[in-house]
Amino acid sequence: ATTLAPAAETQPLPAQSAGGRGSTLTAETVSAWFGTHKVLERVDLVMAANSVTALIGPSGCGKSTFLRILNRMHELVPSAQLAGRVLLDGEDIYDSARRPIETRRRVGMVFQKPNPFPAMSIYDNVVAGLKLTGVRNADKDAVVESSLTRAGLWTEVRNRLRQPGGALSGGQQQRLCIARSLAVDPDVLLMDEPCSALDPTSTRRIEDTIGELRDEVTIVIVTHNMQQAQRVSDHCAFFLAAENTPGHIVEAGPTTAIFGAPRDPRTADYVAGRF
Ligand code: ADP
Ligand code: MG
Repeated sequence: ATTLAPAAETQPLPAQSAGGRGSTLTAETVSAWFGTHKVLERVDLVMAANSVTALIGPSGCGKSTFLRILNRMHELVPSAQLAGRVLLDGEDIYDSARRPIETRRRVGMVFQKPNPFPAMSIYDNVVAGLKLTGVRNADKDAVVESSLTRAGLWTEVRNRLRQPGGALSGGQQQRLCIARSLAVDPDVLLMDEPCSALDPTSTRRIEDTIGELRDEVTIVIVTHNMQQAQRVSDHCAFFLAAENTPGHIVEAGPTTAIFGAPRDPRTADYVAGRF
């Protein structure tokens, strides 16, 4: 029997920008372990449809682990364990009836180090996004053009689609990876320090792309760049871990509040560069 999604009244309001197609991701009391090492403790966070959420905090506090939990990559690590729930538009992505690949298609990931297939053509790199997540019968030419356009790369590469992805600059490779993720029309895009390996100009291009994508995709970005967090995000979550304290959210809220009027002194110190 089909049941209605439970606890509909606890779901946050959707789309700030009505008409977008992003989804709301909700983490409920998420804890995580690698073996017996607990790395996340009861993380609650709503990442609202068509908003940009920045995850900030020192290295080792569990930001990347949390991101991987949001698209079921966490479970690819044999020692990894998880407690709590992750809801995508109200549905538990870890429900035993759901296949991991469904979630990974709807929730894309871009990593710190651009990782296109270097010997594969630009065109095939974008198409690879379809293959990796089992999408068939797509109009490939149309997908390649629209994905590269949305990633802000089309005009630069339209006449060299058969060249290898590895021939592009670092910033272009990262936009190619964004295009590969966008090829399957995801509802959410997770970005783990996407600009940390890039020069300022390439960083700016990626930030512009984030600004354009936010109306159609829900974005969660990990960044160590506080100016970037302020430029691109609507909401911010500050993570912290200590010797005997697993990573947890110290404070989350609108970016203007986290930077302008933080409630916790540790947040105030971190966003001011005192840590
Ligand atoms: P951040 O992204 O905030 O720097 P991570 O999520 O990468 O933090 O790491 C959080 C903790 O989990 C760290 O203590 C790290 O050593 C540990 N960790 C991350 N990945 C693994 C793994 N595959 N196996 C064991 N421990 C891991
Ligand atoms: Mg990390």
